[in-house]
Amino acid sequence: MPSKQAYFFGAGKAEGRGDQKELLGGKGAGLAEMTRIGLPVPAGFTITTEVCDLFYKRGKKWPPGLEAQVRKALHHLEDVTGRTLGDPQDPLLVSVRSGAARSMPGMMETILNLGLNDRSVEGLAQGTSNPRFAYDAYRRLITMYGATAKGVPREKFDHEFQKIKDTRTRARLRIPEGTKVQDTQVDEAELRELVHRLKKIYIEATRQPFPQDPWQQLVGAINAVFGSWMAEKAVTYRRVEKISGLRGTAVNVVQMVFGNLGEDSGTGVCFTRDPNTGENQFYGDFLPNAQGEDVVAGVRTPLKLSELERRMPAVYYQLVKDRRALERHYRDMQDIEFTVERGRLYVLQCRSGKRSPQAAFRIAHDFVKERLITKDEALARVTPEDIERLFYPVIDPAFPRDELKGRFLARGIDAVPGAASGEIVFTAKDAEEFAASGRKVILVRRETSPEDVGGMHAAQGILTATGGKTSHAAVVARGWAKTCIVGCEALDIDARSKEMRVNGRVLREGEVVTLDGTTGSVYAGGLPTVKPPLPAAFTEVMKWADAIRRLRVRTNADTPYDARKAVEMGAEGIGLCRTEHMFFDTEERRLAIQEMILADKVDARRAALGKLLPFQREDFAGIFLAMGGRPVTIRLIDPPLHEFVPHEREKQEDLARRLGIDADQVAHRVEQLHEANPMLGHRGCRLCITYPEILDMQIRAIIEAAIQVKRKGIDVRPEIMHPLVMDRKELEILARRTREVADPILKASRLRIPYTVGTMIEVPRAAFLADQIAEVAEFFSFGTNDLTQMSMGLSRDDAGRFLPEYVDPAKAAIFASDPFESLDVDGVGGLMKWAIAKGRSVRPRMKIGICGEHGGDPRTVKFCHRAGLDYVSCSPYRVPVARLAAAHAVLEDRAAKRKRRA
Ligand code: ADP
Ligand code: MG
Ligand code: MG
Repeated sequence: MPSKQAYFFGAGKAEGRGDQKELLGGKGAGLAEMTRIGLPVPAGFTITTEVCDLFYKRGKKWPPGLEAQVRKALHHLEDVTGRTLGDPQDPLLVSVRSGAARSMPGMMETILNLGLNDRSVEGLAQGTSNPRFAYDAYRRLITMYGATAKGVPREKFDHEFQKIKDTRTRARLRIPEGTKVQDTQVDEAELRELVHRLKKIYIEATRQPFPQDPWQQLVGAINAVFGSWMAEKAVTYRRVEKISGLRGTAVNVVQMVFGNLGEDSGTGVCFTRDPNTGENQFYGDFLPNAQGEDVVAGVRTPLKLSELERRMPAVYYQLVKDRRALERHYRDMQDIEFTVERGRLYVLQCRSGKRSPQAAFRIAHDFVKERLITKDEALARVTPEDIERLFYPVIDPAFPRDELKGRFLARGIDAVPGAASGEIVFTAKDAEEFAASGRKVILVRRETSPEDVGGMHAAQGILTATGGKTSHAAVVARGWAKTCIVGCEALDIDARSKEMRVNGRVLREGEVVTLDGTTGSVYAGGLPTVKPPLPAAFTEVMKWADAIRRLRVRTNADTPYDARKAVEMGAEGIGLCRTEHMFFDTEERRLAIQEMILADKVDARRAALGKLLPFQREDFAGIFLAMGGRPVTIRLIDPPLHEFVPHEREKQEDLARRLGIDADQVAHRVEQLHEANPMLGHRGCRLCITYPEILDMQIRAIIEAAIQVKRKGIDVRPEIMHPLVMDRKELEILARRTREVADPILKASRLRIPYTVGTMIEVPRAAFLADQIAEVAEFFSFGTNDLTQMSMGLSRDDAGRFLPEYVDPAKAAIFASDPFESLDVDGVGGLMKWAIAKGRSVRPRMKIGICGEHGGDPRTVKFCHRAGLDYVSCSPYRVPVARLAAAHAVLEDRAAKRKRRA
């Protein structure tokens, strides 16, 4: 049994510390730390996550010792506050709040105003001289306690509140039908009546009266918070967010402070910097005369922080001071919840704030400039996912402005940037169903609640009618970088009939809208989107990554366009230029290669290849130019020839006509090319063993292109790569012929262009015999797609039928991830390590890289770093991802070294 189960904080002292998140949860650790550094935090105590774990292990019972510790902590709290729980004169009230080690916004329960009963509510009324407030607090407690501790459907309570508003308040204030009655308009008498009715609902539903004993309330609330840890929505959230290995939630019992005591009170949520842009600007929402849940739930649309400055300047400046203190202390952007009680500020929570990828880079960068963190720390804080999300689309700025105006439907609050189109749906369930059948949807809700996360995840974007930038919808969507617009009050949503009215138009389920999360605008129909320019901080932070990484990053590119794009993305060369794509490019080229394949004599083949030569030369020259002196690895023809010829009779006839031959001849040749197992068939370098004239043409094209570009004064570094090699002698034949073609051409040009001849390692036999092959090969490049396929005996094209089951944690869970996405480090990686060691035993400084799809996967990149590869190669947009992952690998090395030393 852990000896300490509850940690006290208050009056400037705390038993816990900020670094005890695992034990105290994020919220508990934050409250303790803020207390220590002198921030105005209400007093309280935290029951540890260990206790939650024990609670479940013991069949939902309190572990021994807990009751005594909670009673002791409660007495301490009563001492510090000078009030007693349940006191009929001047009662202490507390909140009972959840809080795990990882933030799960809105997923678990909090109960406010605990300690109120029929007598203490009168004490509170007198003590504050505000009976309306006291009864408002009481009705909230009954609702929250009933719903979360006793499982009474919240709607029952809400419905009763609505009834009072619609009948009594509306009549008293003569509020016309169609205008909403605000919570704040309900008066004391009506609230008394409401409390009476809520207690009746409570009894009907639970067969017990609402507990008048505050200790009984406290126990019930603590159990409810523990219970919320395993509630379905919390479990779903952890699954979606891949959160595992936590012990449970802590429980924070905190003295209540009141934001709903009048216009000099209020509550708010803010970020120390703009979470969308990262700009060093205070950012947040404020709601006067309200309790915190009103902001988070998005029940009322809040005011901007600047409004707080206007209304309560002293509070605002104190908050600004605390903002600075928090950033200095935590050395990161913070998300703060605060409440103002009669002009006095209290901070109720802080945590490192969720942010857009743009903001992640900007903040990491600015914190280095402000000397709050080091460059290494800044690098560790940005993630490969942030980079991917940076490329999220915006509405094409070239789209005609007038037309855009015509499509405009409404404006809401720009909660999460990006642009997204899809069919509108009105429930989370529909969103999931539509998405499951491959449709893109926008989830439209009045407000979202934690039950909606599944549907929110499935949607392209989220649109809500109420709520601010810190509402549930905004916070969750921001975590996923999912386009989100909130507080779009022009929407009149009827989820039941599946339609919404907006500025005189009716849109039904399935109609397409586009969200511009950057401006908060909603448009009718789908709009074209483009990738945004990269933020300046990104370029700067990536330079820091480049400065520390050892692993080089190249790109897979087959065209000058891709090559240029990749250089912009920081590629240091091409690791894989596939030449066969060039054959498909135009009708003319296709015809030439088909003619070559159909020819039955060498001469006829040579003639056909002669037609391809100028095209290939031109393509290579373009790529060499684009790469401006960087190394370019060119892979010779790879796919089986049958991929180049038509298989339908009609197309065969057409081809025959154009080549002036008989259609049956075409059909016959296609028949001949058929293989039962083409991926293990006549492909790769095997083609050039059989048809060396193909090799001759490709080498000639490469070398002549290199000469052409070199003559323009631009360096060229061709690396000629033979695919699918399995044997030393095989490569020897190919390498000799390569040089026999290349050298005379070079000699005649009188230029010095050093080129190398190497091979892909993608057949397990080649990996196994890498030392023999290294006697010929000047470089290796691991083709991990084929290597995975052949090592595991898994067909890349067919494994989709059963591989998901191998990966699914809820099913067989044989692999942690798809071996075609993230390298199978143990198996295929082990084979690679063997080949690297063997290869370098013969050629110690041999250049070795990887050119499969894996080259852009962060985990694989780290493996490649550790395995001693020279470079990884990946698609252009993944180049920055690989650069960052390579830097992270170095940071991990350093951390490991520090650990070993310590
Ligand atoms: P969450 O984990 O969902 O953020 P919290 O425990 O922070 O839940 O509680 C939700 C809201 O309830 C807070 O934002 C805050 O405004 C309000 N609240 C919680 N505890 C107190 C308290 N002791 N005094 C006043 N308001 C509180
Ligand atoms: Mg909170
Ligand atoms: Mg291959």
